[in-house]
Amino acid sequence: MPEDIVDGTVPVEEPQGEFQGEPVENTVTDDVAADDSKPEIHEISCSNCGAPLTYMEGEAVITCEYCGTTTMLAGYDNIVTVESHYLLPPKVGRDEAIGIASGWLKKGFYKSKELPNKVSWRETEARVLPYWIVRCTGNTRWSGQQKRTRTIGEGKNKRTETYWEPVQGRINDNYTWPVYAREDTSEFWGIRNMEPGQQCVFPDWGKFILRIGGSKKAPNKNLLEGKMDFSIDELKKLNMQEHIINGQIVQERAEASARNRIIELHQQQAESKATKVTDIDTTIDVQGVDLVYVPIWELIYSFAGKDYHVLVDASRQEVLSGEAPVGKWAKATIFDIVFLLIAAIFAAIGGTADGAAWPWIVAGVFGGSAIAYSIWTATMKE
Ligand SMILES: [Zn+2]
Repeated sequence: MPEDIVDGTVPVEEPQGEFQGEPVENTVTDDVAADDSKPEIHEISCSNCGAPLTYMEGEAVITCEYCGTTTMLAGYDNIVTVESHYLLPPKVGRDEAIGIASGWLKKGFYKSKELPNKVSWRETEARVLPYWIVRCTGNTRWSGQQKRTRTIGEGKNKRTETYWEPVQGRINDNYTWPVYAREDTSEFWGIRNMEPGQQCVFPDWGKFILRIGGSKKAPNKNLLEGKMDFSIDELKKLNMQEHIINGQIVQERAEASARNRIIELHQQQAESKATKVTDIDTTIDVQGVDLVYVPIWELIYSFAGKDYHVLVDASRQEVLSGEAPVGKWAKATIFDIVFLLIAAIFAAIGGTADGAAWPWIVAGVFGGSAIAYSIWTATMKE
């Protein structure tokens, strides 16, 4: 296990790119390249070790799988080495990742405890994903109007009136804002689910209609936590060096994207504090932009003829996102609670209504259904 993990503090230095002289770019012409839909493959040589680096059209952040140097193509005449370059060191291989996912599969009210024994693991894919982390401070001053009400007058003349009151405020926050370094967040399963606030746990209810709870939202976490200087050897330990995904978004664009997102966020925060915001000004101070590679395992398992995904963080050793069938007893419990509640309401009506039989009959039907569903659940296979 790697011990030389750099602690939480981040060196405050502008990641200055180094100009690497003449760009060495040549296109590997493919004989079958007649097909326009195929992305073109290009090649440059690693500025550090000279190894050939192949990359797809559109990729601009390329990491050498031999020495770990990352080259950024920021325009045709500007090839730079990314200096501020980190890795969340992977700690688990394929089998351990399946172990972590299996542990997750039996955890919680919604999943069957037997589930890990009944699934078959079909596909496992390692990926080392590129993220830009924009370290910055966002400062906002805003002013606006707040609608208020007050009561005026006495006795018969008493009435409420609305009036506007000027309000203002400041927002001041530090961020380590993550920007996924690729254009398409849907090319790999689960990338979007890792974004703070997005749904990351997806229960599969099948045909069951009373779908109460079971989903979860991704927490807001600092991707720089637990980082170390990028080391190709750490990836080689678990054979993940061949699974580095090149970035497509260069540093400048990542910075601009983070700025926009923070301006939007502050706008929303200001709007939540005033009925209308009339004036808002945000300044963002960028302290630095780091490239961090996050190793993950994408696992696919099948259960009862269906495929489900689980994404495991290979560094933090936890499930980032996952899909799982809801267990039969979770469904039975929900069914029984809902139906017994309805039965209780009708029984209460039966208690107050003057001798009417129908509320008791309805209560009996719902109560009986709950019991019948439990019996049926016991006989049915998971
Ligand atoms: Zn190299």
